Amino acid sequence: MTSRRQFIQIIPFAGALTLASRAAFAADPVNPADPQAVALGYVVDATKADTKKFPKYAAGQTCGTCQLYQGKAGDATGPCAIFGGKLVASKGWCSAYTKKA
Ligand code: SF4
Repeated sequence: MTSRRQFIQIIPFAGALTLASRAAFAADPVNPADPQAVALGYVVDATKADTKKFPKYAAGQTCGTCQLYQGKAGDATGPCAIFGGKLVASKGWCSAYTKKA
């Protein structure tokens, strides 16, 4: 049986574990300077897409309307399947853009 003293000692430890596990599961944002992001022309602001290098870009295309975007509507960021679940900006864009069906 756990004594009251032992129980009181466990509480801060359990709280620290909860915080640590949340941090471990929080996805990192995609760094536009990462080699994969550079190769795909990822930008956090779709209007800044390099249209010379990526002529496929069309006005109005954003991560938020891409089939590979896994965020909720209205969220500023969301996970992207192309970037292994890392967070992309809903207003961002990359050359793997695929319009949502
Ligand atoms: Fe954005 Fe789609 Fe490119 Fe992912 S694949 S970064 S959601 S445009």
